[in-house]
Amino acid sequence: MSPVRAEIVVDLAAIRHNVRRLRALVAPAAVMTVVKADGYGHGAVESARAAREGGAEWLGVATIDEALELRAAGDTGRVLAWLGVPGEDYAAAVAADVDVTAYTLAELGEIRDGVAAAGRPARLQLKVDTGLSRGGSTVADWPTLVTEAHAGEARGDWQVTGVWSHFACSDEPAHPANDAQEAAFLDALAAAEAAGLRPEVRHLANSAAAILRPGARFDVVRCGLASYGLDPAPGETPPDLGLRPAMTVRARLALDKAVDAGAGVSYGHTWHAERPTTLGLVPVGYGDGVPRHAGNTAEVLVAGRRRPVRGRICMDQLVVDLDGDRPGAGAQAVLFGPGVHGEPTAQDWAEACGTISYEIVTRIGGRMQRHHVDTDTPTDTPSEEAP
Ligand SMILES: *Cc1c(COP(=O)(O)O)cnc(C)c1O
Repeated sequence: MSPVRAEIVVDLAAIRHNVRRLRALVAPAAVMTVVKADGYGHGAVESARAAREGGAEWLGVATIDEALELRAAGDTGRVLAWLGVPGEDYAAAVAADVDVTAYTLAELGEIRDGVAAAGRPARLQLKVDTGLSRGGSTVADWPTLVTEAHAGEARGDWQVTGVWSHFACSDEPAHPANDAQEAAFLDALAAAEAAGLRPEVRHLANSAAAILRPGARFDVVRCGLASYGLDPAPGETPPDLGLRPAMTVRARLALDKAVDAGAGVSYGHTWHAERPTTLGLVPVGYGDGVPRHAGNTAEVLVAGRRRPVRGRICMDQLVVDLDGDRPGAGAQAVLFGPGVHGEPTAQDWAEACGTISYEIVTRIGGRMQRHHVDTDTPTDTPSEEAP
């Protein structure tokens, strides 16, 4: 086996812990752990398992394929999928007991075809657009959608199990859109009830709203980012929430070297050494999902200190300034992690790159190996050993 060049280590104990924390916070509401996009880069199946162990009553995904992957891995609990396209395999979703979401009458028609093919009724949720202007029924179309959904329920095509919506600005608690969306959601719920629907669950909140907006918790909260231990609303979230980032990204230096004052570093020579220094070559780049925007701005922990990235990020490698130290080829370089050993966090990388931590963890990967540890199991020690 070739030596580990770079790896992503995911601590399932952290996910389990975070889901437990979120459940305690939002009770009596239930928790839906969102594991779309391969569990925000943490591994969908492994993250889902840890979330269930932490008490997640629901799992949420974007696509039906993602839901079916969870079923294939043995998950038998409640799963909601919410992003269909025409021609979607609703029969497979219905057969797998996945809750599907409809935004439109056309989708109701496709789901009815899936029900006929599967030979059993669907579990159907209806999404209303309360102001994000993304997925969901318009408020104008909502009365017709709920009427048709009720007619389908009466025919035995499905059971309407949920009514839900999604916030645009939940990471800004004072934003007026939050109140407006919550009011629109209450109106939509009233219209659904007037049409005869009695859904099992009503849900509106993602991580930030689940944490910051108790009135928006309804029956279930859909938590993605916070489940992975990252802060969905930096500067707003109470620091005592006790979430633990689950992902560590680390590599081994391919090389260290001394350079003279004036040396230009990496493509385009966007950085020059002001004085003689030493450089470390970290063998990961944008081909592994390291953002190119991190050039000359992010930091990497090497030999006990945070080392600034110098020059541009390349496809396969990046250069850090070791400021005279020579830790040697093979030394550990931690790009980001929980932050408890002095390493930067995904949030630090997000700020360095002008993005959000969601994007940092979800895009990292490429050729890196990813493995899962469980620090609730005494023999697993993710952040100390060299990769
Ligand atoms: C991704 C997503 C979530 C999770 O959002 P977080 O901010 O990560 O908690 C919840 N609901 C919907 C509809 C989503 O697309």
